[in-house]
Amino acid sequence: MAKMTQSRSSHMSSIKDRRAYDEKAFQHVKGSDVESLDLVSDGRLVSVKWADGKTSPFHSVWLRSVCFCPKCRMDHTGQSIVEFDNISSKSRILSAEDDGEGCLTVQWKEDPGHTGIFPLKFLKAQCYSKESLEEIRNNVQMTFSKDMVIPSFQHDEVLASRKALYKWVKALNETGISVVKGVPRGPGTGKQVVQRIAELLQHTVYGEVDNIKRDPRPINAAYTPKKLELHMDQVMYESPPGVQALHCIEFDENIVGGENIFVDMFEVVEAYRKQYPKEFDILCEVPVGFETLHYDRDWPTHMIHRRPTFATNKYGDLTGVVWNPHHIAALQVEEELVEPFFDAYGKFYKLINNFSKLFRIRLRAGDMVTFNNRRMSHGRAAFSGDGERFLQGYYIEISEFKSCVQVLSNLEGDGKPPVRVGNYDSL
Ligand SMILES: [Zn+2]
Repeated sequence: MAKMTQSRSSHMSSIKDRRAYDEKAFQHVKGSDVESLDLVSDGRLVSVKWADGKTSPFHSVWLRSVCFCPKCRMDHTGQSIVEFDNISSKSRILSAEDDGEGCLTVQWKEDPGHTGIFPLKFLKAQCYSKESLEEIRNNVQMTFSKDMVIPSFQHDEVLASRKALYKWVKALNETGISVVKGVPRGPGTGKQVVQRIAELLQHTVYGEVDNIKRDPRPINAAYTPKKLELHMDQVMYESPPGVQALHCIEFDENIVGGENIFVDMFEVVEAYRKQYPKEFDILCEVPVGFETLHYDRDWPTHMIHRRPTFATNKYGDLTGVVWNPHHIAALQVEEELVEPFFDAYGKFYKLINNFSKLFRIRLRAGDMVTFNNRRMSHGRAAFSGDGERFLQGYYIEISEFKSCVQVLSNLEGDGKPPVRVGNYDSL
């Protein structure tokens, strides 16, 4: 006969049943067993010593802000319903306990009857000790390797397997660029590849699919055989396209030129910062406008967005770059900034175009080059000769790309966060 046990709902099972906590997101967190708990400064903080020897301080008010109990998070969504005018920096912890089933519980002096619940893996992941913050910043750092080769992947594998998909997006995240080979040559076939990253493509005024071929009445230099300067696409948008895919459908061998050129802007900017620190500061400060003005179309467009060329976080890490000489608007800043700006801008322009690490690729039919448009600039050599050169371009929003990398890292990998994607995330 089976032994009768009294069923008792643990804090963990209750927050999971309420769907307030998604444990898959924290499944790779290591060393989250508690060794000891100490209240510090009359309950202003609880100091958690973990099994891996690390220590995390958690402020009372911080715990109030992220509590998982039904008073503090909505059922089903896990969204916060904390009323922030009800919590204060004067908050004090009365007691804190490890419940032995994966949660920390907390009682507060100023709020009797409120039992705070915190999954230990969540706490371990959110630790904000100096050491942890530094480790997190290191994990998201972009790296630039001298002898990098553009990684390539197979269309059929990326389509069929989540593991292969993860390998592709991970490489794309880490290097900023990759090629998917063997994409069928019919128009529209590239779409299902980029839809492995996100179901909805990012639309722009050029539509969902950008058909890049010679056009006798072009509305964009891309539709001519002229040289395209190194640039990022659509920086006149507040959120410029994230990942860009260019699927080569035809590239006649009689065409001379027309190679695609890529450069890692984050690497260029770091070289620039070293060589021209004062000019670097100017480009971090002076807003530059990028614009598209086109009234002769079904949906007339008059778009302009201004921001500095580079953005940094409080540590000075580069978090965003915008660059597009073809769409630059007339500078409108205080007159004493005009000459220093063009001096700094011209030096950067020269550095990019003469950078030692430019990738030059002649695409072949069936290749789809995918790259992070918030990190890489791309250009094209002029071309001539008879025959068709036909590419189709697609975009994925940058936050959705980053989300895909994180999800797959949790489901297929070690759970590490994506490296910076250039979307101004200030970590
Ligand atoms: Zn609560």
